[in-house]
Amino acid sequence: MSQLSASRTGGIDVRATVKGVRDDIVTIQLLLDEQGDFYPIIKNELVHICPQRRADDERQEYLKAEVLRVRLGEADVQVFESTRGVAVGDPVEQTGDMLSVLLGPGLLGQVYDGLQNPLEVIASGHGYFLPRGLDVSGIDTSKKWAFQPRVSVGARVSGGDCLGVVQEGRFTHQIMVPFQLSGEAEVSWIQEGSFTVTTVVARLRSVSHRRNANSLQTDGLSAQDDVIEVSMMQRWPVRIPLSTPMLKSGRSQRCYPNVPLLTSIRLVDTFFPVAKGGTACIPGPFGAGKTVLQGLIARFSDVDIVIIVACGERAGEVVETITEFPNMPDPKGGTLMDRTIIICNTSSMPVAAREASIYTGLTLAEYYRQMGYNALLIADSTSRWAQAMRETSGRLEEIPGEEAFPAYLDSSVRALYERAGVIQNNAGQQGTLTMIGTVSPAGGNFEEPVTQSTLRAVKTFLGLSADRAYKRAYPAIDPLLSWSRYTDQVSGWYIYTLGDDWLLRVNEAQQWLRDAQAIEQMMQVTGEEGVTLEDYCTFLKAKFLDEVFLQQDAFDTVDASTPMSRQNEQLRLIQRVMDSLPAFDDKAAAQHYFMRITGLFKNLNYSAETSPDYATFKAQLFSK
Ligand code: ADP
Repeated sequence: MSQLSASRTGGIDVRATVKGVRDDIVTIQLLLDEQGDFYPIIKNELVHICPQRRADDERQEYLKAEVLRVRLGEADVQVFESTRGVAVGDPVEQTGDMLSVLLGPGLLGQVYDGLQNPLEVIASGHGYFLPRGLDVSGIDTSKKWAFQPRVSVGARVSGGDCLGVVQEGRFTHQIMVPFQLSGEAEVSWIQEGSFTVTTVVARLRSVSHRRNANSLQTDGLSAQDDVIEVSMMQRWPVRIPLSTPMLKSGRSQRCYPNVPLLTSIRLVDTFFPVAKGGTACIPGPFGAGKTVLQGLIARFSDVDIVIIVACGERAGEVVETITEFPNMPDPKGGTLMDRTIIICNTSSMPVAAREASIYTGLTLAEYYRQMGYNALLIADSTSRWAQAMRETSGRLEEIPGEEAFPAYLDSSVRALYERAGVIQNNAGQQGTLTMIGTVSPAGGNFEEPVTQSTLRAVKTFLGLSADRAYKRAYPAIDPLLSWSRYTDQVSGWYIYTLGDDWLLRVNEAQQWLRDAQAIEQMMQVTGEEGVTLEDYCTFLKAKFLDEVFLQQDAFDTVDASTPMSRQNEQLRLIQRVMDSLPAFDDKAAAQHYFMRITGLFKNLNYSAETSPDYATFKAQLFSK
């Protein structure tokens, strides 16, 4: 509840007033200062619109808005909430801050909206209808955390260095020197004990302290006479990659992603790998299995932290995500929610908040990456995010590009995915941020602008096919359409872990699929009779590979998740079975044989490797 009582009180420092309102875009008129100049305002600064008409409960509302465009004496701002009742002349207050998130222990397990309002806290205080203009802290300010210093008085530190740690669930959460602090500071005082996130735990004395130019104001870092007080919570502007200052100062480094993110989904890990710290997109029409696939990736991927950004799906789907997810058991123990943060906006929430939600998610993921963790961000769906951008751009009357998306769609999409990557932090620990975005192209048409822009930005494309979903061939990732540009980058890992012949074997299996496609097309015209027995066997081989390896049952406890070592063993087994095929007299005999081994192999997939069944089915595969 203390998060709610953190709502601010006090007067309004008016520096501008409302001049015009158009949906969620408000034009504000800047006022003049004592010298007769307009008060300064900066693009992306956060302002509060303070309607004079009071809310039903007589509260003064502070509607958060972000400056999008500045002209002489006025600016256009996008309001993150409904602008109902906002009138010309209403006061506007500048915050001097950019749209930011709070960072500190207590983020894991939370469900936020796009502006980091904790939905559960709000729901418990105000019911499920979010009141407008409420200022709620994203982190519980009453909870105490046991802080253990990792540096002593006299130590020289810089932005992003670890000052101490607290235990957040199963994770050691690093309390880092505020990122904006460039140059060096000396620890003049630090205390150990149990504190709230707002308590000052350390004081630093600036040695060569310059503030980062990107930050308008530095919360969590208050400098007086060059003494900087540090608490366990800090703020970071969401539109700027969090590692920027540490990379600029050279204390952190960007590294090359060269290890795969193992998802335990055979089609992904074996055929279309995503690198840890890499990017992938999953476009697919409605009903093609996007939700199930994302759930599997979130649950079984070998990452520490999962951040799910559900932006703008229908309310029902979002409710499904936030009710199902917390109860999902985590294969690593506990529940999945213990290491997850959900950010959700339904399509009924204002578009601006939806647009911001991905940046909020990215910043939270970057925060954990900076501590050396492997974070995975799943954005569902980036089409809704792009549509939000389109709506705002339309209201600003910008020149539209293809399908009325703004001309900068491509660069905005690229900028999102560029925030993924591998970072070696100030202490030399490697953290990764992998970003997987789903795209929901209307009618499953991959030619539309958002899918096309995304395909130019990502390095793995897992295209879901309506046709495969219709045949219930799940996961419905189309093996002939999808691609991964990480194959070379991560090949060293695969060869080292699975043997020199790994890539050769994967290529061979992919070749069966390509060969079979041509044969299948021929058979559609001529029927089975039109192809030779040899071609028919090639077709059956690919079908076998599809049914027993590419397809994977998400609802079977064993088959849902296949560790890489077992994927390797399975592929080897499939190839051995194919190498020892008997000579068939005719197509019927071939078909009969393949039917039998498909059944056996499926049973093998459903059996734990240690079970007696596994050995039995395996032996039967080779009995003629
Ligand atoms: P989308 O989110 O693309 O609309 P869903 O993920 O909800 O589609 O999938 C639709 C249905 O397809 C699911 O209810 C489920 O029955 C089935 N399905 C999807 N993926 C799998 C899978 N990997 N294994 C088994 N069934 C699946």
